[in-house]
Amino acid sequence: MRPSALRQLLKATARPGMISFAGGLPDAELFSLERVQAAVGAVLSRVGGRALQYGETEGVAELRDWIAAHYSRGALHLTRENVLVTTGAQQALDLAGRVLLDAGDRVVVENPTYMAALLAWQPLGANFLPVGVDAGGMKVEELPALLAQRPKMIYVMPTFQNPTGVTLTRKRRVELLQCGAPVFEDNPYEELRYEGERLPSLLELDSGARVFQAGTFSKTLMPGLRIGWVIGPPPLIERMGRAKQAMDLHTSTFNQHLALELLQTGYMEEFIPRLRQVYRERRDAMLDGLAKYFPPGSTWTKPEGGMFIFVTLPEGMAAAKYLPLALERDVAFVPGEEFHLQGAGRNTMRLNFTKMPVAEIKTGVQRLAEVLAGA
Ligand code: PMP
Repeated sequence: MRPSALRQLLKATARPGMISFAGGLPDAELFSLERVQAAVGAVLSRVGGRALQYGETEGVAELRDWIAAHYSRGALHLTRENVLVTTGAQQALDLAGRVLLDAGDRVVVENPTYMAALLAWQPLGANFLPVGVDAGGMKVEELPALLAQRPKMIYVMPTFQNPTGVTLTRKRRVELLQCGAPVFEDNPYEELRYEGERLPSLLELDSGARVFQAGTFSKTLMPGLRIGWVIGPPPLIERMGRAKQAMDLHTSTFNQHLALELLQTGYMEEFIPRLRQVYRERRDAMLDGLAKYFPPGSTWTKPEGGMFIFVTLPEGMAAAKYLPLALERDVAFVPGEEFHLQGAGRNTMRLNFTKMPVAEIKTGVQRLAEVLAGA
């Protein structure tokens, strides 16, 4: 296992005064501490000692029911047997690897992709088959050539991809499913849509039980709860449950009840519209700043939701070279190379726009542009 460069960077960005575009963090100022405090009391008085006891590996039944109901859309009808509660969506990634991958197995991944998926699967001896990404998401037309290498699964983030923010088009969603391979749909950002029309998930479009989907409350409630899940066909859920048992027995019972209490008292309905409004303003401020200050020849994605804008600098400008200079001026970003396979993406950078307020975003983008111009 290699240390994650991003985790190292996050340590540096914890410094006071730092304008960090580096992490994938929500703004903790937007959490309602009063609501959480009330929910803690409510769980203790309503559920009592059961909320502090060991629980089932699959998760608290009522929470599994809530997740099943929330994601049953159109023709998709889910029950709790389709749902395994996990310790963050990150654990769903780990479990998928443990259950599905043997040494030497191939996994199709977007290039760039979510690097912590690679960190979970690399130690298992997985090999990655990269597929390009453009403004319409994974370039599905590149898949047929890779399928000849018999990948065990295709890992894809169709909605507001990390790190690019782009969304897979409807046409490509349908084409992706036609390729017949098992698909891991990582879907943490779906609820954070600021404009445009919602597209059906791959899970909703799938008719062959080939898709399994990871989700999380990290981006909608709060990441510190560490509550995620995986939705899939019951035999797969059962196998993942067995693997989870050996990892942590179960996800925190108390935190599951806390999440459930927040959901049942309307936290999402109240909180998500506010998140959408605040994050939309921040995205727009960052897009404005980039247009105003960034060097000519730079391009960037225009995401309809999620947390990230991905910048491509003019050819030959290696983003990682500017990071120490940017950190000196109290601005942080992640060099895009970190998300790429095969050393690609040296002239790219990922910018998070959800953590900092609009004023800091404006200052930070301007400073970053000065660093790039000065060099
Ligand atoms: N998948 C993707 C694409 C993510 O961006 C993240 C969070 N950065 C995760 C999974 C893990 O989220 P969680 O906090 O639920 O473990």
